[in-house]
Amino acid sequence: MTDEATTDGAMTDSHTPSGSTATSMRTHLCGELRAENIGQTVSVCGWVARRREHGEHLAFVDLRDHTGIVQCVVDNDVDVRSEYVLRVTGVVRERPEGTVNDTLPTGRIEIGDCSVEILRKAEPPPFPVDARADDVDEMIRLQFRYVDLRRERMQENLRVRSTINAAVRNAMEAQRFVEIETPMLVPSTPEGAREFLVPSRKEPGSFYALPQSPQLFKQLLMVAGFDRYYQIARCLRDEDLRADRQYEFMQLDMEMSFVDQDDVLDAVSEAVLAATEAVTGERPPAIERITWHDAMNRFGVDKPDLRFGTELVELTPVFADTGFKAFAGAEAIKGIRVPGAAATHGRNQLDKLTDRAKELGAKGLVWMKTTDDGFDSPVAKFLSDGELQALRSQMEAETDDLVLIVADEWATTCEVLGTLRNDLGRPPVHEGPYRYVWVVEFPLFVGVDRETGRPKSAHHPFTMPHPDDLDKIESDPLSVRSIAYDLVLNGWELGSGSIRIHEAELQRRVFLALGISDEEAENKFGFFLNPFDYGAPPHGGFAFGLDRLVAILAGEENIREIIAFPKTQSGSDPMTNSPIPGDPKALAELGLKVLAPST
Ligand code: ASP
Repeated sequence: MTDEATTDGAMTDSHTPSGSTATSMRTHLCGELRAENIGQTVSVCGWVARRREHGEHLAFVDLRDHTGIVQCVVDNDVDVRSEYVLRVTGVVRERPEGTVNDTLPTGRIEIGDCSVEILRKAEPPPFPVDARADDVDEMIRLQFRYVDLRRERMQENLRVRSTINAAVRNAMEAQRFVEIETPMLVPSTPEGAREFLVPSRKEPGSFYALPQSPQLFKQLLMVAGFDRYYQIARCLRDEDLRADRQYEFMQLDMEMSFVDQDDVLDAVSEAVLAATEAVTGERPPAIERITWHDAMNRFGVDKPDLRFGTELVELTPVFADTGFKAFAGAEAIKGIRVPGAAATHGRNQLDKLTDRAKELGAKGLVWMKTTDDGFDSPVAKFLSDGELQALRSQMEAETDDLVLIVADEWATTCEVLGTLRNDLGRPPVHEGPYRYVWVVEFPLFVGVDRETGRPKSAHHPFTMPHPDDLDKIESDPLSVRSIAYDLVLNGWELGSGSIRIHEAELQRRVFLALGISDEEAENKFGFFLNPFDYGAPPHGGFAFGLDRLVAILAGEENIREIIAFPKTQSGSDPMTNSPIPGDPKALAELGLKVLAPST
């Protein structure tokens, strides 16, 4: 087949939805009936949202499906109650004058002359199946998740999720990526999180891991010549749960051959921008880039939220010759300016900010309130007039601003002010414009392993070092940059990726820097790296968390709200009662014995 034939084939879209949702049981959906349907005999199916008396002989039943509610006028002797499942057949008619409800899309009509078929009676619901359930204890909502999911908010969230999945898939297919599934029972994947283990029955005492990501397999698919791979992949990591983290999560995982960083960033940008457009109707502008070093310098974090200012301002030169002890000799002095915050920050708040800065690792926090002619601050008297003037102009401070200053090691100064900046100014994650940003040139290594005294991988050990820094891998590893990049949206890290090492010698140098000997590398990663000897193309890839993207685009702060069946914060599922103790017979078959938990 020629290329042209393939393209033509793809354009004949055999999957266009017909748009019809009529079935053998219904002619229409509840929320879609309108004045145009007046006079038609229709059948609708759904759940009873509400029943109320209407005179002596009649009752109103609001029937609900996923599209909304329609009012049905039924005989009073029909015994239907909340959440009963009905099929109602009747004639659409205009509502009588005075009963029109403009707040409801179906508010001008009702179904009259109804015959009602009860498809299934229902227990009274554990909570109201509407917005009032937002205030119900989450444990109860999760225990009765199938009822919770009937609600408009949850229906909307999961439909947004489906829209995003479809947009991402379309964008990847259009760029000629191939969707390939990878296994769930795998060896260890070096993503740095704790793994879930699955015991092998055939080989008692041996275990599979559940994949932290398809990392190893997608790289082997490049060796296998697939050129462009993607997968909407389930990943599992046994980490403490929080608002943006679940044991199981979905990633758009991708890998490409014969590429550099720009190629990967462009392909992923296309997918997230298309997904955003599919939900909001607007395509955000091209995604800007910032180096990791600039992100730390300007925003103090590696996931900068660009929706608000309050950038970190460089003050080290201002205090280069200072006599003030707390500043003298500090590696980095930086400040943030919180406009108009002088009045709202009394002694108490300032003490709290100082405590927070110390918790975060700073030696202290200097606060200064700008007045008409200077600064109100306990340290102002230790600074020279020249320093105070330069400070004011450098910070672009105006009267009544609050200036917070940290003087410490570079990393501490950045991180502490970056966290305070977020604490003081960050809007809820889904609010305001969608500000994507690529953070590039992450360090190759970060920190030092306490046990081995060796640097630790910042991303994973297969990440390509920056070509300009290759000569520092042995001599100054912590200063080596990498070709690793993160995608950030409104201050949430959506995902990470890198160009990979595809040459054996460079891989060996990186392993050695990490303290991994040739022998250990062979044992741990041989099955993965030996295939590279059969011809690994230069390649790179990325993965981003779909749950986080969906949460932000659906306007939710917590990813549990956009997952059909999530686990609670403590990792349990109140609906299925899992996890449950292992069945002794099954454990015996697996050669496992459960020890009493150590207290
Ligand atoms: N596997 C990596 C992750 O899950 C992403 C990548 O390097 O492609 O973060």
